[in-house]
Amino acid sequence: MNPLEEALKIKEQIIAWRRDFHMHPELGYEEERTSQIVEEHLKEWGYKIKRVGTGIIAEIGNGTKTIALRADMDALPIQEENDVPYKSRIPGKMHACGHDAHTAMLLGTAKIIAQHVDELPNKVRLVFQPAEEGGNGALKMIEGGALENVNAIFGIHVWRNLPSGVIGIRDGPLMAGVGKFDVKIIGKGGHGALPHETIDPMPIAAQAILAFQTIISRNLNPLESGVISVGVIKGGNAFNIISGEVEMSGTYRFFNTETKDLIEKRINEVLKGLTSAYGASYELKVEEIGPPTINDPKMAELVKTIAKRMGLNVVEAKKTMGAEDFAFYLQKVPGAFIFLGTKNEAKGIIHPHHHPKFDVDEEILHLGTALEVGLAFETL
Ligand SMILES: [Zn+2]
Ligand SMILES: [Zn+2]
Repeated sequence: MNPLEEALKIKEQIIAWRRDFHMHPELGYEEERTSQIVEEHLKEWGYKIKRVGTGIIAEIGNGTKTIALRADMDALPIQEENDVPYKSRIPGKMHACGHDAHTAMLLGTAKIIAQHVDELPNKVRLVFQPAEEGGNGALKMIEGGALENVNAIFGIHVWRNLPSGVIGIRDGPLMAGVGKFDVKIIGKGGHGALPHETIDPMPIAAQAILAFQTIISRNLNPLESGVISVGVIKGGNAFNIISGEVEMSGTYRFFNTETKDLIEKRINEVLKGLTSAYGASYELKVEEIGPPTINDPKMAELVKTIAKRMGLNVVEAKKTMGAEDFAFYLQKVPGAFIFLGTKNEAKGIIHPHHHPKFDVDEEILHLGTALEVGLAFETL
């Protein structure tokens, strides 16, 4: 069985699935239609199905080892601005990260595996998960048994930072861990003309935002990576009134526990020091949303070997401060997260993930399928 040949045979089918999913995007935990279509096909092809909400765990084959392959199915609350025949038909919703492609590729993989189940040396578990975009759907799938008896897990993300068709793989840390912080600075409101009778939280908030940046530039070892971004600031109702409170929210990114702990500790210390200096007080809520995505070196090597054997162009993926809930699977079992390049300047496919003009180069989707099939047939 030649995975690439098999994938080429159903190339148009994979594209058709992708277009159908693209036209009907569904947000996290609302993937009713998408999962229905996936389930119908999988049943028809002989898979054993377990439903986890809008997620699906499907299994096929015999053998002592189980290899899991994962696709995410959710879309984003973005109005599509592409003028293409397969444009989203749902206002305000769009597959702007490529999860439509992931679902279509894994569906293609499912079909090929089912056709060659007699040659399959392992059990294969397919995980079609909901809510990757901030919903931590991976955790729900793990609670639902997605990783039970699994020996290795792989997932592919179409990637617009790599040229179309190029496979990006890396051992060790690949994507960052992500946290969220919510801050409330509590002062004392009053008249805008009488600041001496108030405790103005605005200058404190302004200083805090700048001081947060020194956590990265002055506290973190320059050879380590971290990010702090304040994305929300809210306070005040009128131009001539000093507000009693200011609220801020932001995200922080890290590749290891030391950096995570340092950022969380210093955010608190900065707020404590600044508010105490000005006689204000503060509330801080810090929440780790997900860990870093760390590929197992052996599994990354396996991906490289299989991709090269297929004649694919393999490069070392660059680390990114973006985050992925695939990280949760990799905390439990060895595996690898793989990038599949989809940037194609000639076709105008250049826009970043989560952009209203994001698109994928459909000509290369079958390569993702071929790689997944290759991994499924590799005895661990
Ligand atoms: Zn995304
Ligand atoms: Zn994504």
